[in-house]
Amino acid sequence: MDKFLRYVRIDTQSDERSNLTPSAEKEYDLLNLLKEELLALGLEDAEIDQYGRLYAHLGGEEGWARIGLNSHVDTAGEASGKDVKPIIHENYDGKDIELPAGISIQVADFPRLAAHKGDTIVTTDGSTLLGGDDKAGIAIIMNAIEELIAEKVPHHPVSVLFTPDEEIGRGPEHFDCKKFGADFAYTIDGADSDLIECENFNAAHADVEIEGLAIHPGEAKGKLINAISLLEQLDLSLGISRRPEATELYEGFYHLIAVEGDSASLKARYLIREHDRAKFEAMKEELINKAKSLNEVYPKAKIDVHIKDDYRNMKEIIDKDPRALEHAKKAFEAAGIKMRQDPIRGGTDGATFSFLGCPTPNLGTGSYNHHGEREYLSLRDYEEMIELVKKILTVD
Ligand SMILES: [Zn+2]
Repeated sequence: MDKFLRYVRIDTQSDERSNLTPSAEKEYDLLNLLKEELLALGLEDAEIDQYGRLYAHLGGEEGWARIGLNSHVDTAGEASGKDVKPIIHENYDGKDIELPAGISIQVADFPRLAAHKGDTIVTTDGSTLLGGDDKAGIAIIMNAIEELIAEKVPHHPVSVLFTPDEEIGRGPEHFDCKKFGADFAYTIDGADSDLIECENFNAAHADVEIEGLAIHPGEAKGKLINAISLLEQLDLSLGISRRPEATELYEGFYHLIAVEGDSASLKARYLIREHDRAKFEAMKEELINKAKSLNEVYPKAKIDVHIKDDYRNMKEIIDKDPRALEHAKKAFEAAGIKMRQDPIRGGTDGATFSFLGCPTPNLGTGSYNHHGEREYLSLRDYEEMIELVKKILTVD
């Protein structure tokens, strides 16, 4: 756990408001340390490019596939990542965990905790996040490579990539597929150690602009068209059962995330999410058509919809090139872990890597409750992940 505990003590929170790459200078504090550690391990070409992406390569058996591993150095903006004080709870009793800063991690809120009884759990003091997302991923990769080299066992050639700014959606920017050089890869950026994720949402956002007709309310009868009311009608017509709070698993949704304006005119933004490509296209079409129909009822108003795609479901790529999934199956089996597959209800940097030429499913880290002060790491799951990554790099 030494590596993990060292990495989480380095503040690497990314900054959404910054236009720099990486967004926060302090992300280099961990990137530089990792570069030195990779060089010391013998990955002689370890190098941080001009965009703050750290690439390194390790040779392996001739004729074996080159396997890529990726994790991100930054932490999320929802909670502070400064002065993280990890607390180790040995032989955890399976009950609520009280943290010194006055909050608790309750089994009622996180039923999974009960499964960690007898395990060693790492939390913070309750004033910051832990940073297991994704420093557990980084530590798993670093430990696996170190052990592999020390054990002198035959292994695949390995490509390592550590990225900044994943939490603000800029992780896959500047991805150099050729430089990475992997035949396929894995992001180590999930939670559950028995899970592989090969499917994520197709994602788009829609900007809706509505111009109503403003008239003095005293003389408004039959004339005034309230832009807010038009948005309400449009929103209800999409269906309240198709919102994030009403959907799960493979169900897609429309998520109204922002509204700015007044009764005369307004701008609103929707997120559109759906795993199935055909349904996704139909949802975009449907929003445009519903807006059009509404505009026909109110011809004196103006309703415009502009849709932009954000990312795509990597399943398309994994279906065509299943090497990463097939290889993971063998590794899970060799590690004695029963592999589960779940769809991600969100995006993943691996989706972009996949569409740029490197199929990249996502694996777990053994850390849970990300992005908040109640985050924790299970030592058992974390060690299981190190073993799994070693299997990934050694099974032929
Ligand atoms: Zn992450």
